[in-house]
Amino acid sequence: MEENSTPLISFSDADIRGGDVTVIYGLDMQVYPGQIVYIVGKVGSGKTSIFRAITAEHKLLKGAGQVCGYDLTKIRAKDIPYLRRKIGVVFQDFQLLMDRSVEENLLFVLKATGWKDASAIRKRIDEVLEAVGMTTKAHKMPHQLSGGEQQRIAIARAILNNPALILADEPTGNLDEETAEGILQLLQQINREQGTAIVMVTHNRSICQRYPGRVFERILQGDFMMTLKQRYDGILGYFRDNVPIAESELHFDSPYQLLVAVMLSAQCTDKRVNMTTPALFSAYPTPEALAAASFEDVFELIRSISYPNSKAKHLIGMAQKLMAEFGGQVPTDIDALMTLPGVGRKTANVVASITWGEPVIAVDTHVFRVARRLGLSRGTTPRAVELDLERHTPAELRPIAHHWLILHGRYVCTALKPHCSDCPLTAWCKEYGNRQ
Ligand code: SF4
Repeated sequence: MEENSTPLISFSDADIRGGDVTVIYGLDMQVYPGQIVYIVGKVGSGKTSIFRAITAEHKLLKGAGQVCGYDLTKIRAKDIPYLRRKIGVVFQDFQLLMDRSVEENLLFVLKATGWKDASAIRKRIDEVLEAVGMTTKAHKMPHQLSGGEQQRIAIARAILNNPALILADEPTGNLDEETAEGILQLLQQINREQGTAIVMVTHNRSICQRYPGRVFERILQGDFMMTLKQRYDGILGYFRDNVPIAESELHFDSPYQLLVAVMLSAQCTDKRVNMTTPALFSAYPTPEALAAASFEDVFELIRSISYPNSKAKHLIGMAQKLMAEFGGQVPTDIDALMTLPGVGRKTANVVASITWGEPVIAVDTHVFRVARRLGLSRGTTPRAVELDLERHTPAELRPIAHHWLILHGRYVCTALKPHCSDCPLTAWCKEYGNRQ
């Protein structure tokens, strides 16, 4: 039911600044009414920074962020207290006012959030104390309570204003196992009975297993705090160690044949191209032969391939230009390659990197999709993605990186249903957390 409603929390590609530094890059996160969400991660992985962003304590530098109906990119200082009234917060160290009784702690919050009617205040305090099983402790001072009891009072304080959302920052971190269990059950009960969404930061994975909820795995792996360099190092390192050989799946024996095959492969599968090229190469083994071919004959040989009409024209035009201007040889220069009919940057890059090891990365539909999902680029055009990939990939790895990303996109990170459960790159993948 949650996914059909408006999210209580929604971050999209958000960079978050705490003080003078950007503490989180590219945060994507949605929390819906009634959900239980765990943010699991190591110390220093940015978990608490996310809470601070949710309560508008940290600023959004880039991207989109909405919490309880407030747009964090536009929120005014005077609106922040109203936002915070919609959120209950529970801390690891309880943070009760130690010089006031339980009742006075609760009263303090109610008055600070605009409650004035004495009987309504009395009633609400009784209600929340009952909800957390602490009706007999109203007059106790915090130091007279155990850790578990203090945390129950902190939870009572968090639900005073019937929040849609509770943020619980390691709520059981200071408690023994048995007491912690009681606190977790109390939070579950509040979620169940009042429909309050709970977002809990924890480093304890077993909690997520015992009390199911949505887990932000990527934070577990420190992804939010991962630098771009770390992401590239991780992904390229994985491929270098595990996929030392990655090659084009097109069949060819010469630069000319490669050029023809790559031109035919635009919006067509390599398998289909490979079924077609033997007859084509046999009929036209050289650029000279292809330059003299008739459109009808070439069309007939490639008619099972997508866009046979324009591809037949381009193949003949390409061969004629090779003969007229390049002595029948495929040029080694990318700009020269791009002057040939039907040869764009992607085709030129593929030919140049495969044939001459040029340090370029051709961006086709697979590379474009995979690079963006992994977080290697935020580019919105193939050229922008290409420039990002080339900027961060060592020159000697660029030719093979193209094949790594294509093959990963073709067989693992497929367009409609990526096989994340079989993917070895989850530790570095920006998209992964959203697909759990
Ligand atoms: S984890 Fe999923 S989305 Fe990320 S690269 Fe792997 S298959 Fe693609």
